Amino acid sequence: MMDKDKLKAQLEALRQNFIAQLPERLTALESALQSWRQGLGEAELVEFHRAAHSLTGAGATFGCDELSKVARALEQQLVSSELARELDVIETLLERVRVAMQGAGQAQVDYELELPAVVPLQSQGQRVVFLLEDEAESRKNLVVQLEHFGYKAELFARTSELVTAIRKQRPAAIVVNVVLLEGDLAGIDVVKAINAEQNDPIPTIFISPRDDMEARLGAVRAGGRAYFKKPLSIESLVDMVDELTSVEKVQPFRILVVDDSKSQALYYASLLGQAGMETEVITDPKKVPDAIKEYSPELVLMDMYMPYCSGVELAAVIRQQPSYLGLPIVFLSAETDRSIQLEAMSTGGDDFLSKPIKPANLIKSISIRAERYRALRSRMSQDSLTGLLNHRRIMEALSREVAKVKRHGGVLSFAMLDIDLFKQVNDNYGHAVGDRVIKSLARLLKQRLRNTDIIGRYGGEEFAVIMPETPLAAATMVMNEVRRRFAGLLHHAGEQDITVTLSVGLAAAPAISDVGELREAADQMLYQAKHDGRNQVVAVATSS
Ligand code: GH3
Ligand code: MG
Ligand code: MG
Repeated sequence: MMDKDKLKAQLEALRQNFIAQLPERLTALESALQSWRQGLGEAELVEFHRAAHSLTGAGATFGCDELSKVARALEQQLVSSELARELDVIETLLERVRVAMQGAGQAQVDYELELPAVVPLQSQGQRVVFLLEDEAESRKNLVVQLEHFGYKAELFARTSELVTAIRKQRPAAIVVNVVLLEGDLAGIDVVKAINAEQNDPIPTIFISPRDDMEARLGAVRAGGRAYFKKPLSIESLVDMVDELTSVEKVQPFRILVVDDSKSQALYYASLLGQAGMETEVITDPKKVPDAIKEYSPELVLMDMYMPYCSGVELAAVIRQQPSYLGLPIVFLSAETDRSIQLEAMSTGGDDFLSKPIKPANLIKSISIRAERYRALRSRMSQDSLTGLLNHRRIMEALSREVAKVKRHGGVLSFAMLDIDLFKQVNDNYGHAVGDRVIKSLARLLKQRLRNTDIIGRYGGEEFAVIMPETPLAAATMVMNEVRRRFAGLLHHAGEQDITVTLSVGLAAAPAISDVGELREAADQMLYQAKHDGRNQVVAVATSS
């Protein structure tokens, strides 16, 4: 996130840019008046009105209130009944616009930049988990398993060691055995002591051979968030550590800003960016459908009056596509006529914000809608067992990412993963164990891959991963790391722990730039990996 002074400077530069362009805008208005004198056609009138309206909105955006006000008066005059469109009235108003423009440069703008951060900043780096356990076998196992899932585990055997370590570094979570050599409830006592020194209790999970009320109640009173009776199910334990340290990757909202005035579009984009949102700016309405397909925004913030087509028409075009029926479209315009606003909303807009708008209000209206849309979409697009993208969404994402590569260059790798001999897992240990294996692979992928990688459950025990900006060689390394880690996981299957492996096929665009062929190639490589003995990664041979 940018610091406030820098943002202020950026907004001020946009404002200066707008002011520098005022003479041009004036010329446009004057020539419109000129053609008025020579007899005005409908098309010219529309253009005249658009120029006045645009000035109203831009003036409001850039804090030139007086200019915005007189431009609005002009605009209203132009759309009012025939009789009122008297030439001399228009001339007088235009003169007032001219005067207001001269004053515009002097205005001081008070930028209100105390913006709420919409997206919590993500904690970076590896999460550290402290472990208090003095049983030899359990110690080793826990460390290895946690590390497979991307945690850094530090092991302590004595309560005093844990206390000292926490004074030096606060871990993301602690896992503590209730029963230690030091006492049958020693684990609980030390957690109480530790949290007495913390403002904010450290997320704690108890593990324990005890199952009695005294131990369980003690754990609750010490602030324990979970209690696992031994023998441990590592998957459930790691699930809980994940939950407590919230590994869900929080992606910023993606907002498409559409405004034919570049300076205004950038102005609003900067404000949204300051609140932690990601933006894409489009100034040509013709490009909006492609931009939506490619950028996959979670909300479109749209100007009302633009050349080529109006915001309302554009919204209707977007709505023609069933997959964008739910995409929120918010109009941001200087239009104050309530009936026009309502009409805009009835043809596809979700909200109508009037310029000028306080930055904090803008952020709030937008984030509420983007949030709701994201929740709705994730319910529709998620695979219920793993929370990953479902088949349809991952293929949509692949088309989108391949289109990006074709348009902007760069590379992407596409991986198909399939669990080896999975039918045997189901047959030997039951479907529930199989499901847990699938879930643990999903979790491993979420944790080990980059934020920008897109992960889906392709079907059954098959997964697909799109790695943007990743050449085949790098993708091969990443997938080998995933493969190695997955093979190292122990899955709880009744009395015993089992290991399972997986195979991966990889292909890349633009070497293969057709989506169908890309998927086919990755699938063939997967087949090759199976054929060559499983538990391996096979990438398409590159020509170089
Ligand atoms: P290969 O190494 O060749 O991939 O062998 P495989 O046994 O993994 O391959 P196969 O495709 O023959 O078997 C996959 C099995 O996965 C069959 C199906 O019953 C099982 N399966 C598919 N979806 C699920 C699921 O959601 N849960 C569970 N537990 N099993 C599933
Ligand atoms: Mg399989
Ligand atoms: Mg299969």
